[in-house]
Amino acid sequence: MIWHFLRNRLGWLWLSFMSFSIVLIWVTYEVRWFYPEMQRYFGDAGTLAGQQLATRSRTYIQNSLEALGKEPLTEETLKQVKTNLDLAYGFLDIGLYRERYECTESSLALLDDFDLLFNKPDPPDSTTSLAYLLPVIQCATVIEIGQWNRRSVVAMDMVESIDWHQRVFLWGTILFYVIGIGFWWMHEKQRRAFMQSIKDKLKWMQQALEDPLTGAHNRRALDSDLLSHLAQFKRGARPFSLVMCDIDYFKSYNDAFGHADGDEALKKVVSAMTKTLRASDRIYRYGGEELAIILPDTEGKEAMDVAMRAIEAVEALDITNPDSPYGKLTISAGLASAAAEIEESDTLIRLADEKLYEAKSTGKNRLAVAWI
Ligand code: GH3
Ligand code: MG
Ligand code: MG
Repeated sequence: MIWHFLRNRLGWLWLSFMSFSIVLIWVTYEVRWFYPEMQRYFGDAGTLAGQQLATRSRTYIQNSLEALGKEPLTEETLKQVKTNLDLAYGFLDIGLYRERYECTESSLALLDDFDLLFNKPDPPDSTTSLAYLLPVIQCATVIEIGQWNRRSVVAMDMVESIDWHQRVFLWGTILFYVIGIGFWWMHEKQRRAFMQSIKDKLKWMQQALEDPLTGAHNRRALDSDLLSHLAQFKRGARPFSLVMCDIDYFKSYNDAFGHADGDEALKKVVSAMTKTLRASDRIYRYGGEELAIILPDTEGKEAMDVAMRAIEAVEALDITNPDSPYGKLTISAGLASAAAEIEESDTLIRLADEKLYEAKSTGKNRLAVAWI
């Protein structure tokens, strides 16, 4: 259900866009994740610093022992040893050490006790010093090793964590990327199918208005065009004209050469007439060997010129028609223009047809014009 909702409401392209957005968000998230992880690692360097403190503490104690081993002990040396021991105490007295390493408390206690001894008039001999300070040195060493181990564990954790994140990240990114491409491809398929259906529809529409033999527009197109031209004229557009044409003695031509040749001749006639027309003019096959031409924005002399050019173009084809007094194929034409009195397209067709009949009856291969 959710899937249908996503698909129908959002469409493939949006789903694709969402997938790529997820990839982007993921990348951002992963990059953000990496920094806290690094911080954790170096944050634990707090414990690293701790490790250094234990080292320092140990070093101060070792220095003190060394100084106490020297003979004779001067006042100056004793003062220095005292300072070193105070510093060693400070560097060992860390909460973290107390919590994690048991020896810390006892070592600090030993240092305290040793300090008391040290304050007496006779400084402790080296054996006593060793007995007090050696356990402290051992404890500092334990702490150092322990902290080093902790650091290794943290580093291993981080390496494993990075490895896991990287795998999930890589496969996740690939998955969403592939899904995104898939959605995009669905969208592309849908778009292509849609474009194809529009093209088919347009082709059918064109075919429905076209005459298959001559390629001229058909009668249905003539009816629809006449209606729209007449409507435009009524709304104030310039008058348009209609020319009705009919091939002369075409029956004889068919009889002489056969129907197939007749069809070829018809195609040639339409083609020759079409060439004489202007871009805005349109030719139609009204029926059989009858043709019609609509001349938009044209009337009077201008319309007559176009019609005459079409008649002359057919004659110039010089297609032999033995039974015609002209010896060749010719056409006759009747011309009528839109006028205020003409309410319906049928009226205009009838007017042009009447003139065609007049052209036929007055000798053919000519034009007759209806003057309203
Ligand atoms: P008119 O000069 O008076 O027009 O004489 P016509 O012989 O042309 O007479 P009409 O127009 O009445 O005849 C139509 C003829 O045209 C009938 C048919 O033989 C021929 N015709 C009509 N349509 C076609 C077509 O599609 N192909 C072919 N080959 N001939 C056709
Ligand atoms: Mg005819
Ligand atoms: Mg006819």
